[in-house]
Amino acid sequence: MINLCFHGIGRPGRELEPGEAGYWITEDFYRLVVETVAGRDDVRLSFDDSNASDIEIGLDGLVRHGLTASFFVIAARLDRPGSLSAEQVRELRDHGMAVGSHGMDHVPWRALSDAAQQRELEQARQVLAEVVGAPVTEAALPLGQYDRRTLTRLQQLGYTHVHTSDRRSSKPSAWLQHRFSLRSDDTVDSLHAILRGEPLARRLVGRLKGGVKQLR
Ligand SMILES: [Zn+2]
Repeated sequence: MINLCFHGIGRPGRELEPGEAGYWITEDFYRLVVETVAGRDDVRLSFDDSNASDIEIGLDGLVRHGLTASFFVIAARLDRPGSLSAEQVRELRDHGMAVGSHGMDHVPWRALSDAAQQRELEQARQVLAEVVGAPVTEAALPLGQYDRRTLTRLQQLGYTHVHTSDRRSSKPSAWLQHRFSLRSDDTVDSLHAILRGEPLARRLVGRLKGGVKQLR
């Protein structure tokens, strides 16, 4: 199984965090990705960070191709400019999309204090469960960071699947699902390398491309 992860599409509607721009892709590239993976039952899609582009651009591309995806929502960003509103999260749900937790404040889930762990892993999930009116059972690790203690706690709390940003393929039923995040410098070629499950392909292609760009 290849899990692809989107962050933002098109133009951000809020101020980005440092380094975040590299995870925003164009609307054209998004459409190419969904066209490419439509009908492939070995590819699963997810969206992190609950950007408004999830619903403004992402949903239409999915519906058009009969695809579904999981949306990992940042609880404290609900209803903020540039991010999904609670109503929009329900709209995604009503289109058959899964809603998971991406925590409360988009902070790394490594070396969290007990209080921070409670806020990120329990309170955020509770907020989201109230929004969608159903239990929230999956989580995506903010900034892809985790440690053994966090994973143990997520297991204790009954999360059924946890999604990393480690660039590897996954067994379909594994508790820990690894994902390939699409980036602004991805191309048709790097997309196909990802879909072949080549973990380092994109980085190498990206670096080579960067070098070529400088020479031009
Ligand atoms: Zn994130």
